[in-house]
Amino acid sequence: MSRIHLLTPRLANQIAAGEVVERPASVVKEILENSLDAGASRIELDVEQGGVKLIRLRDDGQGIEKDDLSLALSRHATSKIRNLDDLEAVQSLGFRGEALASVSSVSRLTLTSRTADQDAGWQVLTEGRDMIAEVSPAAHPQGSTVEVRDLFFNTPARRKFLKTEKTEFKHLEEVVKRMALSRFDVGFTLRHNQKVIHQLRPAVTDAEQERRIASLLSPAFIENAMKVDVSAEASGLRLWGWVGLPTFSRSQADLQYFFVNGRIIRDKVVAHALRQAYQDVLYHGRHPAYVLYMELDPKLVDVNVHPTKHEVRFRETRLVHDFIFRTTHRVIADIRPEQGLEPAISGAAAGAMLSAAPGQAVSQQNFEQSRMPLHQLQRDVGSAAGSGFSTHNSYSSDRPSVGQVREQISGYAALHPQQNSGLEGASGSLAETDNAECPPLGYAIAQLHGVFILAQNDAGLVVVDMHAAHERVVYERMKLAYEAEGVRSQPLLVPVSMAVSSAEADCAEERAEVFAKLGFEIARMGEETLVIRQLPVSLASADVSKLILDVLGDMVQFGTSQKIQEHTNELLATMACHGSVRANRQLSIPEMNALLRDMEQTERSGQCNHGRPTWTQMSMNDLDGLFMRGQ
Ligand code: ADP
Ligand code: MG
Repeated sequence: MSRIHLLTPRLANQIAAGEVVERPASVVKEILENSLDAGASRIELDVEQGGVKLIRLRDDGQGIEKDDLSLALSRHATSKIRNLDDLEAVQSLGFRGEALASVSSVSRLTLTSRTADQDAGWQVLTEGRDMIAEVSPAAHPQGSTVEVRDLFFNTPARRKFLKTEKTEFKHLEEVVKRMALSRFDVGFTLRHNQKVIHQLRPAVTDAEQERRIASLLSPAFIENAMKVDVSAEASGLRLWGWVGLPTFSRSQADLQYFFVNGRIIRDKVVAHALRQAYQDVLYHGRHPAYVLYMELDPKLVDVNVHPTKHEVRFRETRLVHDFIFRTTHRVIADIRPEQGLEPAISGAAAGAMLSAAPGQAVSQQNFEQSRMPLHQLQRDVGSAAGSGFSTHNSYSSDRPSVGQVREQISGYAALHPQQNSGLEGASGSLAETDNAECPPLGYAIAQLHGVFILAQNDAGLVVVDMHAAHERVVYERMKLAYEAEGVRSQPLLVPVSMAVSSAEADCAEERAEVFAKLGFEIARMGEETLVIRQLPVSLASADVSKLILDVLGDMVQFGTSQKIQEHTNELLATMACHGSVRANRQLSIPEMNALLRDMEQTERSGQCNHGRPTWTQMSMNDLDGLFMRGQ
């Protein structure tokens, strides 16, 4: 063993860099945050070779005083906080004072800056050395330029972990996207190897913001999203942004952006609340898409949890969870035909795709962005084939997404087994067609192959998937009835005893009342033992101890649980599926109209219980397009 000695500042910084600087994207994150903290309104980024060779950022922020330039590159040097109180209410993105020190210890860094009251710019450069070179004059407008060359040139071990130029650039671009989504009021330019990748002007109006989202993420997302903006006066919480329609779901959780006070975060509580909000409307294994912004008192959130600050800790977990869940759940439940929202793909888009010339490829991106257009397209292909169109080659053959289409088609077929069953709840009469205003889903005109209802409304043709729609209507009705009647519970002949942690047992004890409301009687038998004496009739056949364990797990972690509700809903959904009208059942016109009216009244009726769309609109224009009319 050798004697103890202090590390050189350079080595200490390189060690710190291990935490913060993983790849070019991490450098970009840090320097972009600095520009935003400096109040920049325009940021330009030039990147070469995925950022490994060069990252150059220019901003028009407040700049750095000449005398502070070297300090900016030292560790634990920051202009953003002075004391613990500042830290607890921190509003800036940075505050640790180690980003520039870390980056400069593993690259060749040049920092040039000029403040408003200086008449010239000043520059410092490092070559990964301990001593910072002299401050020298440099021509520069107000603002700062940070140039980072040859990342990891002096740390070969780290350099080895870098991936291809393309991969590194993808990561870097993702960081820029997040920043650009976090601050609509700032203009961003990103160039890679001299090519402009993103050029975004400040976005003020809703329309401009939506355009920015479309260009950064996907036009399909914004076409299939709803704007949310809800504030809770009492708690000072505000949630705004865009939530994707349930029918616009993804196979991966890759279109989920959540910002807390302008900072993108990944958080279990948030993710859980949102998953729950979509729980009842999403096809199994699919992920919702959203871009959401939460604003709250900085004192209520601890951002100093992780060096890269991707994680936060909420002081009031339960309040935050509840607020996010309630807000988004409400919006999703309210998607109904009367809003004129077209579920899944819009008729116009379908028409456009159909009228594409044979052989003309519809971009792959369109396919990956949404599952539903595929489903929709496949149906359209069938009908187009009959009318002499041959659009099939143009988009469906030999694409990787075809397998996905098949899977959906078979899933779809499974929903329509060739069997008859009684139709419940659709026994209304044909509404007045003459003087009354046409209802959103219009009036039925025919039934197609026992599967679809065709209806006419003001815009044109409405096509309804009869089984899917009826299933949702029945399901929502069953849920309402279940809530109205309350929970009936029954005692267990032999009480079930279960082993839990003492924290879970404490929780069960504290929440005995909540459990009682849900129809459970649970008692504590020991430090780590619970016994279930009574449970809701509807859950008699369920694996109760597993359910209770899941519920307690949620309660301990999130302060609340929807597991029982979810489980009950699953049962109701199964019953609804069996209880709703099957394919090949002939419906009378009044029966069809009754179903259309029910859909208009029913929450979440835009998609079936599996997250598939229940109806679609084809406008007269779309139909004209199919026949090349007016072209
Ligand atoms: P932190 O952001 O945590 O304070 P950094 O190492 O990232 O630490 O930056 C150190 C300091 O340098 C900042 O506190 C800020 O005063 C200054 N600084 C860095 N980048 C800029 C910039 N683009 N414009 C103005 N000041 C900057
Ligand atoms: Mg910083």
